[in-house]
Order: sequence, then C-alpha cells, then structure tokens
Amino acid sequence: MSNRVIMPTQDPNVRKTNFNEVALGYSKEDAISEASRCLHCKAKPCVSGCPVNIDIPAFIQKIKEDNIDEAAKIINEASLFGRICGRVCPQEHQCEAKCIRGIKGEAIAIGNLERFVSDNANLSIPTPKKANGKKVAIVGSGPSGLACAYDLAKEGCSVTIYESLHATGGVLRYGIPEFRLPKAIVDDEVNKLKALNVNIYTNKVVGKTILMEELLSDFDAIYIASGAGLPKFMGIEGENLNGVYSANEFLTRINLMKAYEASPTPIYHAKNVCVVGGGNVAMDAARCALRLKPENVYIVYRRSEKEMPARLEEVHHAKEEGINFQLLTNPVRIIGDDKFQVKGIECIRMELGAADASGRRSPVEIKGSNFVLDVDCVIMALGNNPNPILTSSFPALQTEKHGCIVVNEDQKTSIDGIYAGGDIATGAATVILAMGAGKKAASSILNYLKN
Ligand code: FAD
Ligand code: SF4
Repeated sequence: MSNRVIMPTQDPNVRKTNFNEVALGYSKEDAISEASRCLHCKAKPCVSGCPVNIDIPAFIQKIKEDNIDEAAKIINEASLFGRICGRVCPQEHQCEAKCIRGIKGEAIAIGNLERFVSDNANLSIPTPKKANGKKVAIVGSGPSGLACAYDLAKEGCSVTIYESLHATGGVLRYGIPEFRLPKAIVDDEVNKLKALNVNIYTNKVVGKTILMEELLSDFDAIYIASGAGLPKFMGIEGENLNGVYSANEFLTRINLMKAYEASPTPIYHAKNVCVVGGGNVAMDAARCALRLKPENVYIVYRRSEKEMPARLEEVHHAKEEGINFQLLTNPVRIIGDDKFQVKGIECIRMELGAADASGRRSPVEIKGSNFVLDVDCVIMALGNNPNPILTSSFPALQTEKHGCIVVNEDQKTSIDGIYAGGDIATGAATVILAMGAGKKAASSILNYLKN
C-alpha cells in the first residue's frame, strides 16, 4: 500500500532562523499522486469527520482529473477559507482520522490537498445580489466574522465590520505566526470582502468606543464574533515579574506588530525561554521565541505527549527545530532577581493518575521531584476565555459561567436580532468551527431579515 506524499518543508536548521512559511506546498505531480491514493469510499467517512462536511472524495476526484477550479468550487460550497484551513485545521483529528486508508496505513493527506487546490485555483469573486436594503453589523474580524460578512454581502445586505485592533483577521493575524499562515493569505480573504463592498472599521471597540445600543439602533441585525482573547494565568508566585508574558501578548508583539523586525514595538530578547502549555498556542509561542535566537526554548507541559492538544504536525516541527520538551512537568513558582526580572522557574515532575472528567488521565505531582530551570523569560500559554468588554457593557445578553455568549442551534442569542458565534460562543476552539458558525449565522440572519 503506497505511503502518503510527503509535504516538502524548509530545512529545520534554516527555518528556525526565519519567519518564512515552513511547509512549502505540493506540486501538481505531488497532488495528483496523493489524490490517486483515494479509494472513493461509498460511505465517505472522511466527510463526516469534516466539521463543515466538505465533499472530500468529490474534490479529490477533480484533482485526479487535473481540474483544479472545479475542485476549488466543491470546497467553496462548504468552506470559504480553503487556503487557511488547508494550513491550520487539525485534520489528523477530523477528516483524516476517519479516512479508511488510515486503518492499515497512512490516511489521505486531505489538508495538503485542500491547500494545493485553494492555492492554485483561479475562481472569481461572486457578484453580490441586488441590495436588499438590510443593514447588518458584525463585531470582530476573525474567521467567524469574515465568513458571516461574506455570505451576507453576497446576498445583498449592507455589512459593516467593527474590529477593535488596527488590523483585520483576529487570531489569523495576531496569533498564528507567519511561518504557519502567511499574512498575505489573510489579506486576500479580507480583500474579497472589500470587493463585495463590506465596510470595515478598525480601532472600534464595541462596548467602549461604540456601544451595542448604538449598533441596535443603526442596524437590522448584529453578529457578535469577538473571539476568546483573554489569556489565563496559573496564579502561581512570580507571574507578575518582568519577563513573564501571556502567549497572547508575546504573539501579538511578534505577529501583529512585527517586533522581530525593525518595529516600534519592543520584545525582550531572552537567553532562555520557558513556555508553559501543550496546545497550538504553546507551540506557536515556543517556535516564535526560538526565531529570536535564544540559547534554549523549553516547553513545560504537565501531561505526556499523547495528551498534548497541539496539532501533531506542530509538535513534530517544534521538535525538529530543537525545542526542548519537558513533559510530565508542572511549574510551581517563578523566581525573580533583585530587579524583579525572571531568573528561573521551579517545576515539579508529574505522573499520570486516573482519568478525569475529560477522559484524560490526571497528572499527579511526584513528591520531592522539584527542580529549577534557569530561564529569563516565561510565556504562559494555558488557554483563553472570552474578553468581557462587550458582554459586561451589555448585560442583557445571556452568558454562561466562563463568559461565553449563550446561543441556540441557529446562533441566535437571548435577544432578537442579535446572533453570536465562533470562540465567543464555544470558548477557544478552531478556525473551521468559527467559520462554520459564521456561515450558519449568516443563513439564520437572512431568514430573520426576511421575516
Ligand atoms: P478571533 O479569531 O479571536 O477574532 C475575534 C476578533 O474580534 C479579533 O480580531 C478581536 O480583536 C475582535 N474583538 C474582540 N472584542 C471586540 C470588541 N469588543 N469590539 C470589536 N472587536 C472585538 N485553530 C485552528 O483551527 N488551527 C490552529 O492551528 C490554531 N492555532 C491557534 C494558535 C493560536 C496562537 C491561537 C490563539 C488560536 C489558534 N487556533 C487555531 C484557534 C483559532 O484561531 C480560533 O478558534 C479562531 O480564530 C476563532 O475565530 P473567531 O472569529 O471566533 O475569533
Ligand atoms: Fe478517500 Fe479516505 Fe475519504 Fe475514503 S475515507 S473517500 S480513502 S479520503
């Protein structure tokens, strides 16, 4: 049985010194060869693994026929951001996890094929339908807000996006690094919206510089897609020392403000960096930190590699680049010097005990196993909650205990005419789920406006 066609990448020793994209993409020959491995299973299990149900075998068939534009049309029916999702979706837990080819060998590289098609197709932007006189406001320009705006604008609505940062794209711009997702791709997606006459206002914080009440009086409907951008901390001693960052702050300085180049935004160039966490955010922070050329970058994670929530590819790339993984290890306190600068992090070794409510085995401390890592920078990558600025300024909106906005299956909130989706409704999740929620909300808003 043939193996999957390997995605070419930059050499690890070269790429760890630059911010250029790591994965280089399939050639046409690679893509056709990989597509030829597909068995075109009648039951299409891969489709059920895709959160937006892309007709995967159908687009793979078009690649085999060398008809890239038709393949892209099939992807676009379900997903707007093939170039983005082909690069960042956790396919190994979704479509590829269900692929029949994976039972006795390697699953079809569905994500790599999606990326190839979306990078190489030449599709025109649809002409929007005649203006229908309806006005919709969207809060946030991450994947969820962009997807909702696209579908509404196509149907003839007048759409206005309000974004609190000075640039659009949400996590796609400020969180995910250039070496995983080039920002030119995010620009292309935003430009599609501009071509559909979507108005975009940046530097507008809904709940502060513009109020929900104002939007309600000016628009027929609102979609809230403000994400989950509030970082969590551990609550241990030393977290307020100089040299401790949240991953959000660290990544924003690097990705949005380009602090690694000549930029007015500074970044601390540490000798030894410790990143705490085991998800995509931790991998991104560690790999960005490495590109600032310190001596060592450690990842401290309290469970084993098997439980790491990060994408397999990111863990693999991080290891290739030389990140030092301290698994089954948990920080106890951060140690500072007399100038309140980080000089070390005390950790304790862990072992796995019984499974917890999430089904994962709980880490348990091994008494007396404490040790100190000599680091001068600590980056906390422990996950994010929704930022409460909008919801606290508009308490009429029902939220749950973590601050997520409560929505029904149509993405409708507790208030008529207001919809919400993406990370603000689910908590920190994935690009594809956020995009899917935006599309669903657009369809619900169109129904609401019709009635
Ligand atoms: P966001 O992308 O967070 O966008 C929300 C936008 O709303 C932001 O631009 C924010 O500035 C704006 N906003 C917030 N409050 C207001 C306000 N009051 N007024 C106006 N604007 C406001 N997912 C994957 O699938 N694969 C990955 O590899 C992956 N890697 C990740 C790496 C990092 C570092 C992070 C942080 C997340 C990653 N994710 C990944 C998760 C994924 O990026 C998110 O699930 C997704 O971006 C959520 O989309 P969203 O549109 O709901 O919110
Ligand atoms: Fe092709 Fe795998 Fe889907 Fe079967 S499960 S149709 S082999 S991609």
